[in-house]
Amino acid sequence: FRHVERKDGRFVIPLTEGLDPPRIINDAYLLTLKHAMALEDAPQLHRCVAGGRTLAERIEGGFACVLPLYRQEQIHLLVEIGRNFPFTRDDLELAQQLVNFFNGHLQLIDYAETDTLTGLYNRKTFDEHLDRVLAHTSGGEEGQSANHSPKRRHSPEHASNWLAIIDIDHFKQINDRHGHLIGDEVLVLLARLMRNAFRLDDQLFRFGGEEFIVVLQASGGQNALNVLERFRRQVETHGFPMVGDVTISIGFTEVTRYDNPPDLIDRADKALYFAKEHGRNRVEHFEALQDAHELSVG
Ligand code: GH3
Ligand code: MG
Ligand code: MG
Repeated sequence: FRHVERKDGRFVIPLTEGLDPPRIINDAYLLTLKHAMALEDAPQLHRCVAGGRTLAERIEGGFACVLPLYRQEQIHLLVEIGRNFPFTRDDLELAQQLVNFFNGHLQLIDYAETDTLTGLYNRKTFDEHLDRVLAHTSGGEEGQSANHSPKRRHSPEHASNWLAIIDIDHFKQINDRHGHLIGDEVLVLLARLMRNAFRLDDQLFRFGGEEFIVVLQASGGQNALNVLERFRRQVETHGFPMVGDVTISIGFTEVTRYDNPPDLIDRADKALYFAKEHGRNRVEHFEALQDAHELSVG
């Protein structure tokens, strides 16, 4: 299980299902909320998280243990093992060692795929990942996996994917006025705001210096715009220590199944450029600009 703690609560998302053989039901990069549940609804996992360490219990029909895997002092994953006879102290010790070994591997992978400053996925991951988003995407015409009907807060029926580039306004001035370290702090805080503002299954990347990418699901351009507008306002009204006000500009575009990564980036970038040219601190939608003939050709 992936364990996630957010402002709106703690969740667990199962990554596999069944035992014989186990089936992978969630992709670590394309995490969906399809099977997500509140931590409180998974009592054993909940007790393990609350205790912060391995838990072994008798359960209905057998015995179970749950082992927590930590990343940066947070529980990142939970491994549950079930069987029909009790776990001895030695068993638990061995399980713990195996899980620690596995965790070490995961940390190496994370190290290679995330940006060390912000903890978001890095550019390399973006390039690899976008192909999978594109392969996954329905192109906006049909909802994915309509036969799954889990409880969701927002039903992404007919949802399509949107790619947004977020760029901090006048970031060079922030560096010039306050120094690089404070500039870095702004990047870290912005990444944190992003994590809290977007949904769990939205994909967040640090694309370059002061540029970020979000791949999000929304049904229609207006909804995508609303989500991004809300984030823009959150940044605008957030007080950044030392620096005070920071604003961002955003350009976004719809992801279709025919897209390749350079085209997508190019469209979002054109919308971003338009936002920069028209006063900054705003969100622009490529397709809307195009329909309104606001973009010069070329
Ligand atoms: P605009 O509103 O047009 O986006 O202006 P800007 O100043 O944000 O854009 P510009 O591209 O001119 O400058 C980006 C600056 O970001 C320049 C560079 O020094 C800074 N930068 C890039 N990466 C980092 C980083 O990791 N840390 C810090 N502190 N600064 C960075
Ligand atoms: Mg920039
Ligand atoms: Mg900038």
